[in-house]
Amino acid sequence: MRIVVLAGGIGGSRFLLGVRAEAGRDSQQNGDSAEPVTAIINTADDVTLHGLRICPDLDSVMYTLGAGIDPERGWGRAKETWTVKDELAAYGAEPTWFGLGDRDIATHLIRTRMLDAGYPLSAVTEALGERWRPGVKVLPMTDDRVETHVVVADDDKGTNRRAMHFQEWWIRHHAELRAEKFVPTGAEDASAAPGVVAAIAAADVVLIAPSNPVVSIGTILSIDQIRTALAQTSAPVIGLSPIIGGAAVRGMAEKCLPVIGAEVSAAGVARLYGARRDGGLLDGWLVDETDAGTSVDGIEVRAVPLWMTDVDTTAAMARAALDVAQEVGKRA
Ligand code: GDP
Ligand code: CA
Repeated sequence: MRIVVLAGGIGGSRFLLGVRAEAGRDSQQNGDSAEPVTAIINTADDVTLHGLRICPDLDSVMYTLGAGIDPERGWGRAKETWTVKDELAAYGAEPTWFGLGDRDIATHLIRTRMLDAGYPLSAVTEALGERWRPGVKVLPMTDDRVETHVVVADDDKGTNRRAMHFQEWWIRHHAELRAEKFVPTGAEDASAAPGVVAAIAAADVVLIAPSNPVVSIGTILSIDQIRTALAQTSAPVIGLSPIIGGAAVRGMAEKCLPVIGAEVSAAGVARLYGARRDGGLLDGWLVDETDAGTSVDGIEVRAVPLWMTDVDTTAAMARAALDVAQEVGKRA
């Protein structure tokens, strides 16, 4: 069984822990080697700060799967210190709002040096993975530069309209500035990273992690080649809702959905993705038990516990998604 997962940072990496566990358990039972899992990760949050290329979602996935993550914070390195950040602030060097830890900086230094030497991001990601051994194949969605920008304005009339990097809106302004739209700058001309389209084409199942539907999954889907590969693959595409009971479980995804006119609900996200039979993304959709009774035209909906409290619970989510995939696969 070849499993492909589309994912962002924190929600995506937690989910991947469960998928990896489930894939390993399954293969143990069958006496095979572990089932191959390929994770296609959002890179539109990537940003250059203090001359360092930072890939927040790739790093969350790599640190989480490599057991280097700070479990309480949910991002960045465990046992982190902040000396460099404090020293930069003492110089008055902007920006000061981004959480740049000392251990984390080592990752960014290596990545930046390799990119400057001409290696594509996919090669850099693979090289960093030699240390972290994530146990799944981690691919950036693209080697090209794609960055989500947010257009903000002070009021409905568009007074003081300006654009900023998503990270500035999200972290510096806590998503509190009035956003008019998100623009995945560079996506139009971007190609999928090597291996991405082939993995989707060869997949037995594609899972959409419970990640931010707009700025994580939405940006992955903004790459034409990826959207086309998903439309064409014979593998069922099954998503898991990041929204439970009308709110984002962790983080602020509920701030992004209204900006693009989507409802903040499990059904709202499914309708945003759309049914594959109608030109959308999904064959199946998992909602939390709280949202049992949710139904969306053309999509097989199942209610199961969707709180990723520990690896076992999360593995059970992955199992449920694989079960739905098998069912819709049979029917097709
Ligand atoms: P980011 O890139 O770090 O923002 O992370 P992602 O885009 O991968 O994931 C963010 C999303 O994960 C948020 O919208 C949350 O609603 C969702 N999320 C986080 N924890 C859970 C959980 O335990 N269960 C579910 N269903 N969703 C979660
Ligand atoms: Ca992210």
